[in-house]
Amino acid sequence: MPFNTDPAECRLEEARRLLVIRWRDGHESHYPFDDLRKVCPCADCRTAKSPQGGLQVLAGPVVRRGEIRILQVSPVGRYALSFKWSDGHSTGIYSFDFLRQLCPCDACRSGAEE
Ligand SMILES: [Zn+2]
Ligand SMILES: [Zn+2]
Repeated sequence: MPFNTDPAECRLEEARRLLVIRWRDGHESHYPFDDLRKVCPCADCRTAKSPQGGLQVLAGPVVRRGEIRILQVSPVGRYALSFKWSDGHSTGIYSFDFLRQLCPCDACRSGAEE
């Protein structure tokens, strides 16, 4: 892992609809709720979005931009977070490795191509 994946602080910014994680190396990542919900790594959501166009699960995520909210953030052991979403979903486990790689800032996006 090229990045530090140890979070120092994690907070919700309801007004801007962002999850903010500050990492121990000082970097701060801002994740829009919509994007986080879309990449939910749980089996249900992955199946529903299968790019092969195979099995479609009707109970999968129905995401309308600007609607989804995180109601609660819970730590999963020391390696991950889980979110309680306003659509009732809560089975996704977002590891810090995953989240760090997901950081949408320019620096991380360009660094990811190296
Ligand atoms: Zn999910
Ligand atoms: Zn970043």
